Amino acid sequence: MSLSDVRHQDAALRRIQQALSRDRVPHAYLFHGPEGVGKERVARGLAQLLLCSNPTERELGIDEAGVVGLKRVREGCGRCEDCRLVAAQTHPDFHVIYRQLHRDHPEADVRKRKGLEIGVDVLRHFVIDKVGLTPLRGRAKLFVIRAADDMTVQAQNALLKTLEEPPGSTFIILLVSAVDRLLPTTLSRCQLVRFDGLPEGFVREKLGEFRPALSRERIEWCARCGEGSLGRTLEYADDELFELHQRLAESLTRLGDGHSDSLVKAWTDEASALGERYRKRDPDITDSEATRRGLATVFQLAAGWYADVLRNYADTAQFIGAETVATAINRLAEAQRQLDLNANTQLIVETLVGDLAGSTAV
Ligand SMILES: [Zn+2]
Repeated sequence: MSLSDVRHQDAALRRIQQALSRDRVPHAYLFHGPEGVGKERVARGLAQLLLCSNPTERELGIDEAGVVGLKRVREGCGRCEDCRLVAAQTHPDFHVIYRQLHRDHPEADVRKRKGLEIGVDVLRHFVIDKVGLTPLRGRAKLFVIRAADDMTVQAQNALLKTLEEPPGSTFIILLVSAVDRLLPTTLSRCQLVRFDGLPEGFVREKLGEFRPALSRERIEWCARCGEGSLGRTLEYADDELFELHQRLAESLTRLGDGHSDSLVKAWTDEASALGERYRKRDPDITDSEATRRGLATVFQLAAGWYADVLRNYADTAQFIGAETVATAINRLAEAQRQLDLNANTQLIVETLVGDLAGSTAV
């Protein structure tokens, strides 16, 4: 994995390569943009280059250069021991920080906590206390903070000094999807690099490559719903959301026929099944939070179904009117807001389904 292997992030790569060619790589970078578009891959590529014992400068072919807008790029050699260790994620000077790292903290109290955010203890132990130490293999030390917008205010405040004056050979890269969750003081100490959503065609191609068993229809649906995030698209495929979408579509077309009780149960069951998947992925979230996230996905897919109905209006007009669809979409958005406000989930589903059925009934 070298820097120039990352696709469709030309503006970001250009900025980084320009800094490299001037030997002015900032000590605190903040990569921001949607989840799953290559921020961490670029951070790893940069880490490899900065740690590599024999970095190379490569001339780009005409095709490549046209896209990236550069004649040559610097990257790690990919062959030395440092490059190998970065690729294996075992380089002693390359540290990735994330929410669940609290489990490796020396203090039992911290280990026992839920890792729902990146707290000050984790940041002190794994970053702040380490930045002053000499690199173990000599060239540099890199800290990548994954989902850095999960840092608490206290953690961000504790990091300010380090971001402002890191020791010469230390580099910190914050990976962020919601910039507005960071303090202005954190933002002002970093050099911001924006990452964009990926083109749908590219996401489709990659999904087909990573999940070759998926049907064409599933690939197209997941890539469309992933909205330029390969990470999210892969989750949609792995969570079998296309199948869920079809079950929801089937139940929604029958909504006017007095099926609302069974629909409440079906949606609640779907939400808890999804919640279980989310909990496997992130064991620190509670049962009720997992169900809430599951319901959010169910609502989102239902809203997507109604939006499709509007788009293909001519085909479906016979059983549902445009106004009904618009009302349903608004109602689902309202239910999402209630979920965010921690209202009782059973009640949210019952009222929602009742309203949807009421407006669909003829
Ligand atoms: Zn190397």
